[in-house]
Amino acid sequence: MHREDVHDYDGNVFSFASLRYRCTGCGDCCRSWNIAVDESEAARFRTQMSAFVPADRLKLKRLEGKGGTLFSLATADRACPALLPDERCQVHAAYGEAEKPGSCQIFPYTFVSTPTGVRVGASFSCPAVEVEGTTLSEQSAEIVALFERVASSHSVSVGERVPFDREHTISFSDCESLVSAMLDCLRVPASAVEKILRAVATVALVQDGLIKGDTFSLELAIERRQELIGQVLSEPPSPDRLSRALFRTLLASTAPGYSSGGSFLRSMGALGSLLGKNSVALRGGSVPAKEIETVSRDLDEEVQSLIARWMSATLESFTFFGAAAFGLPFSSGVELLMLSLSVALYLARGYAALERRNRVTVEDLRRGLRQMDAGVMHREAMPDRLARTLEASDALALLREQLG
Ligand code: SF4
Repeated sequence: MHREDVHDYDGNVFSFASLRYRCTGCGDCCRSWNIAVDESEAARFRTQMSAFVPADRLKLKRLEGKGGTLFSLATADRACPALLPDERCQVHAAYGEAEKPGSCQIFPYTFVSTPTGVRVGASFSCPAVEVEGTTLSEQSAEIVALFERVASSHSVSVGERVPFDREHTISFSDCESLVSAMLDCLRVPASAVEKILRAVATVALVQDGLIKGDTFSLELAIERRQELIGQVLSEPPSPDRLSRALFRTLLASTAPGYSSGGSFLRSMGALGSLLGKNSVALRGGSVPAKEIETVSRDLDEEVQSLIARWMSATLESFTFFGAAAFGLPFSSGVELLMLSLSVALYLARGYAALERRNRVTVEDLRRGLRQMDAGVMHREAMPDRLARTLEASDALALLREQLG
């Protein structure tokens, strides 16, 4: 990792993703998705809010989570009952910030505890991330205080051994070196597609070595990756049916108001016909899929730079695998990352089409990343079979297709 972003507080090492953020109080995080709280937080919330709203508005949806019983303060179609008409929080206004449920205090930050310290990131589902405020590093004192007050009990952990795929594990220090090598790939002056290909080829070659029975070798992967990139680029992207079905399902799950109930994979068949026949739902309207196809896949430098920054921030935050990403092993997490970026780019083209433009702007991509992150990354759970499906799909071909 780039250690200039690492701070040591009383023996705890914090490393901050290179992102900016300051809350604008827009209230967007208090509606349209599940806000999970545990049983005791739910009981406390009901008591706090009983003075302000009738009891029937405090019936909270029960969530099927892996970590015990959870309740949701909001749903796809219902805002949190504490959200006031002026977008302030009733609990915050009446009792102070520290009395809000932990997940509300933490949003949009992400915290992943690792053997070498705490990785801090922020979710692009918040419209203020990468748009408002100073860098996370510059706000380190407040973020560390937040971690100590509440986030340590809400953070997820990565252990000394990291599941790499279903068959192999690697040490955390190898995992850290691999992430660092991927970040280096995103820093070289090149197009977004080349940067991403270089990063993904590194992971693919490490995996290839492990499958052949070799020990983890980053040096060998780096040595061989240029040849692999050449091979991949010489073939046009041709995603298979499974990849397209997975893409369509993830895309459908980003629709505003989408409810994440039901089986993810079972719904693939029903949702598979969504594209081409129907419209794609965006915030502020919907757009026929055929109009999205008229928007160019060529992306200007500013848009490509945002792609690289999003990917770097996600890697730096360590939120793309493990407990922070539905329990996915490292390699499947990288697949989900590429699939998610494909969805965000497609949505960005959708936002351009909605405004009758034929090129994607940075703002279109921000809106695409926000809708994707809110729909995909904020799901409470994904089925166990997701990792297997991701392994069998070709997310890189989908992403190359979207990157033109
Ligand atoms: S969505 Fe972001 S900017 Fe808006 S209120 Fe929530 S944290 Fe603040």
